Amino acid sequence: MCGIIGAVSQRDIAKILLEGLRYLEYRGYDSAGLMVVNSTGKANRLRCVGKVNNLVCAAEHAVLLGETGIAHTRWATHGKPEESNAHPHISTNIAVVHNGIIENYELLRDQLRNRGYTFFSETDTEVVAHLVHWEQQRGGSLLTVVQRIIPDLCGTYGMVILDTYSPDRLIAVRSGSPLVIGCGIDENFIVSDPMALLSVTRRFIYLEEGDIAQISSYGIEIMDRCNNIVQRCEIELDTHYDAGNKGLYSHYMQKEIYEQPLVLINTLSGRYNNSLVELSEFNDQTYSLLKQVEHIQIVACGTSYHAGMVARYWFESLANMPCDVEIASEFRYRRSVVRKNSLFITLSQSGETADTLAALRLSKNLGYLGSLSICNVSSSSLIRESDFSLMTKAGIEVGVASTKSFTTQLAVLLILVAKISSLKGTTSKVEKEIVNALQILPGCIEEVLLQDKLISKLAQNFSNKNHALFLGRGEQYPIAMEGALKLKEISYIHAEAYAAGELKHGPLALIDSEMPVIVVAPQNSLLDKLKSNIEEVRARGGLLYIFTNSISSFSGSHNIHIIPLPHIPVVLEPIVYIVPLQLLSYYIALMRGTDLDKPRNLAKSVTVE
Ligand code: GLU
Repeated sequence: MCGIIGAVSQRDIAKILLEGLRYLEYRGYDSAGLMVVNSTGKANRLRCVGKVNNLVCAAEHAVLLGETGIAHTRWATHGKPEESNAHPHISTNIAVVHNGIIENYELLRDQLRNRGYTFFSETDTEVVAHLVHWEQQRGGSLLTVVQRIIPDLCGTYGMVILDTYSPDRLIAVRSGSPLVIGCGIDENFIVSDPMALLSVTRRFIYLEEGDIAQISSYGIEIMDRCNNIVQRCEIELDTHYDAGNKGLYSHYMQKEIYEQPLVLINTLSGRYNNSLVELSEFNDQTYSLLKQVEHIQIVACGTSYHAGMVARYWFESLANMPCDVEIASEFRYRRSVVRKNSLFITLSQSGETADTLAALRLSKNLGYLGSLSICNVSSSSLIRESDFSLMTKAGIEVGVASTKSFTTQLAVLLILVAKISSLKGTTSKVEKEIVNALQILPGCIEEVLLQDKLISKLAQNFSNKNHALFLGRGEQYPIAMEGALKLKEISYIHAEAYAAGELKHGPLALIDSEMPVIVVAPQNSLLDKLKSNIEEVRARGGLLYIFTNSISSFSGSHNIHIIPLPHIPVVLEPIVYIVPLQLLSYYIALMRGTDLDKPRNLAKSVTVE
């Protein structure tokens, strides 16, 4: 969500800023802009609605000379996606790019209007530009001016401020939204995601919450929230940005669905030996902490929340470990009762999800035993701020609708369930069963992918549908929820998931011959119960799509489609059954012609609350 990039150099910088914005596109945005200034203070600003490519094309016809600059991809929170609302926002000599929300902007805007300022946008961000300009009249360097206005701002922000009267520096402020300094030779940068700068540097300094940095081509100065000068350590990133090209695939999402067997092998490899879990990330201290755990609290958002819901079934049924799961945006704003010896687990693909990070920070003062994050980006804030972590090794996920991150999260969670079950129990029976099952997981998913053609054909039945219901029981209930989320995200069909037993408490009223009902029905102890729910739908003429490995349980008829799936260990069912639902959503969205790697209104990395 929103991307920021800034540079102070001795060479023209526009090209690097535009290249950086191209990388930041994955985060989701609706408009983009940049401003560059040269050493005499001459500035040029360019903004466009839509793709970064529009900005790149516009830049070809503009004069964008300057050694200092700031650029931004905007994901609108306040004000429509229009050029006038795109960043940078300016107030005479001051320019600002901002990620986040200034919650008290209305009050500040009224005060600034009374002081004679005119507003040219509907954004919350513009108040910052005018506020800095106003405060500058009271004297002091740009840095001290920014330090003086910070207490007036409520909300979350990562922002970068440029003053065309002192074009040799940028001021960056981090409060709730990530910002990282890129250290170059005779040039320095600031960015939301270091990957966007890999073509110019590999050395980075992560700003911490509340930090303010002054960045020039010759130096970097960082102050903490109390304005003390601080040293933050510099790290060298050895990662390479390689999402690869799409190859034979039409979309990144399709590629990422097909990558699942491989990334599961990567995620699992080295994590077991002789049917026992081995976690090189954990040391004796971690293990003694895990032994004390008596309760698990999982907090996450979106797809990661669904992974957490599956894990709850696993922790309680396989490891006898009480577990609760909560959506991060709810958890962070309510008073919750912390159980004795509770471990706080966060899940996030990017590790920058604003609500999940805020929940983690809150948890630190609530008396949890410790915090564990499961995440796909090793340099993320979530990993750095958690006591310990387990990486999913899904590789870069480009498609906004998460696929391989979900299945790798589930695999890591299952490994953790296995470990906790033997640490807390008396035998390693469950651990061995889980590890043996996980060894065949990539092969099971390969087998499911063979149903691609059948699923793509069935997708045609959805071309004129506006609604769909997903049903599941037990661990398959969160899988039904994740299936419905995928369909909503990329095909824009309204989809709802229900625990199948809830059908008769309301949603049955929706069933008619127009309503597709997608059921995840593996052969397990709940199948007979589920069959009764399926009959309830069938009796009312609903259109059934049943994903099952128990074909003989269902007799075909005109309104029942069976999608046969392989026989697999019960413990793997949630991980395997989401794959055909991912494919179904993919093909439905493809047929409806949506921008399925970048669905409207959504962002990959949700860095605003
Ligand atoms: N709240 C600001 C706006 O709507 C920034 C949004 C963003 O993070 O991109 O312009």
